[in-house]
Amino acid sequence: MKKLTILVDMDDTIEQLLNAWIAAVNSKFGTAVTYDDIKSWDVSEAFPGLSRSDVYDVIMEDDFWDSVEPVPGAAEALRRFMDEGHRVYIVTATPYQSVKPKMEKHLFRYFPFLSWDQVIITSNKHLIAGDVLIDDGVHNLTGGVYRKILMDSANNRAFDTSGTDITRVMDWDEAVKAVEAMAAEE
Ligand SMILES: [Mg+2]
Repeated sequence: MKKLTILVDMDDTIEQLLNAWIAAVNSKFGTAVTYDDIKSWDVSEAFPGLSRSDVYDVIMEDDFWDSVEPVPGAAEALRRFMDEGHRVYIVTATPYQSVKPKMEKHLFRYFPFLSWDQVIITSNKHLIAGDVLIDDGVHNLTGGVYRKILMDSANNRAFDTSGTDITRVMDWDEAVKAVEAMAAEE
């Protein structure tokens, strides 16, 4: 089996940012938006009565990250990749203000087998050279030098992968199968 450099997004790939975000905005402003109401990358579009900063300021509060849950199966999958000898890097385009709470309150809490030298903070994932990127952001997968696995998420349901080089997976079981199939090639 080929040993791969596997790049893995954080938000809505290994943790459920959207669910926690929607709950926090609903609780602060009395709205009743659900996960399936999120139709695009700009989450504020699902909250027509609120400004963009009303919606985006919520996730900049340090204690927000206490409420973010991991995606089921993500920790087991990353652990398995590492046990198989692959190199795993978390690649996140998070704002600098969120880095500390996001690492302490989420990544190293729920993924304690990962270390800081496996984390890449960047505003441009296209510049990161790995064998494959697993990400829910279509914009990170159109372009880039890596193979592309799209983690299904409310924000990307409208994107049709047919005719593209992007493979959509519905959960971490499917992501593991897709990566292991790549590792088994050639
Ligand atoms: Mg993401």
